[in-house]
Amino acid sequence: MGLGAFAAAAALVQAAGDETGRLESLALWSFRRAAKPRLGLPCAGRQPAGRKEKKMPTTDPQVMVKVCALSKTFTLHLAGPAVLPALRDVSLEVRAGECLAVVGPSGAGKSTLLRCLFGNCRLTSGEAWIRRRGRLIALSQASPRTVMALRETTLGYVSQFLRVIPRVGALDVAAEPLVSLGRSPEEARAAAGELLERLRIPRRLWTLAPSTFSGGEKQRVNIARGLVKSSPVLLLDEPTASLDAANKRTAAELINEAKARGAAVVGVFHDREVRDMVADQTLELRPIGGGRPLEELA
Ligand code: ADP
Ligand code: MG
Repeated sequence: MGLGAFAAAAALVQAAGDETGRLESLALWSFRRAAKPRLGLPCAGRQPAGRKEKKMPTTDPQVMVKVCALSKTFTLHLAGPAVLPALRDVSLEVRAGECLAVVGPSGAGKSTLLRCLFGNCRLTSGEAWIRRRGRLIALSQASPRTVMALRETTLGYVSQFLRVIPRVGALDVAAEPLVSLGRSPEEARAAAGELLERLRIPRRLWTLAPSTFSGGEKQRVNIARGLVKSSPVLLLDEPTASLDAANKRTAAELINEAKARGAAVVGVFHDREVRDMVADQTLELRPIGGGRPLEELA
């Protein structure tokens, strides 16, 4: 499969994996346009530790990611239905060149928070904004087209697990985000190759599909794919969880280089050493509690 065809297939797989789906998103978008949240309100709710709660206007051009009183509840229609609260009243703010580390036990909602910021999860209440080309985009009102544009131009996302595409080699998997932006395959492969090299993926693996790779090798391909296009906002979901000490340090160096060029980073880092190397502030999440049948909550 050529890189162009792969880029199209990857976008489709991504869209199919989204919680909302395109049609539902479109319906939601038109519904939500009626209720615009007001910018400039101070955020209530949980604030990251290490930062004094500030009533900073959202017009500060350095703020790249802002979340105000965000809650997210999953409704499982086939199980009762049951509602599973995943996030409650979360607020945060990340400026260009800064890294916020999200910590908390398994099930605390860390991945859900990142997926909300990536436009993969519909927000139940509250608001999240991502700055794109100088303008804050409110995610609850963003059309699917805007979300796709945000992903293409602004967001870099390293998911917890690499979504492997059969028969596409590691180098092309890592290069694909740049090809989607219109770069030539040669240029994209050169940039991806540099990252794979730094992350110690042996050249003999570059043309092989990562489906047979070890967990750590897959994760390093995933990091290269997430960092290859120098995104202004990086969302990193446990990018170093399966890495050995040397590769953890390399991943932390790459994150710090991204910060130095002005990227705002929101990341889940279990590893204390990595967190100490990259984080400027920390947000602690706690599990909210188990699911309850809908009628109990009525
Ligand atoms: P963490 O990343 O902190 O381990 P997650 O964000 O993955 O936690 O999950 C938080 C909670 O939300 C968990 O209870 C999880 O079961 C639930 N959850 C996550 N995604 C879904 C989903 N798509 N449908 C239903 N429940 C979900
Ligand atoms: Mg997770």
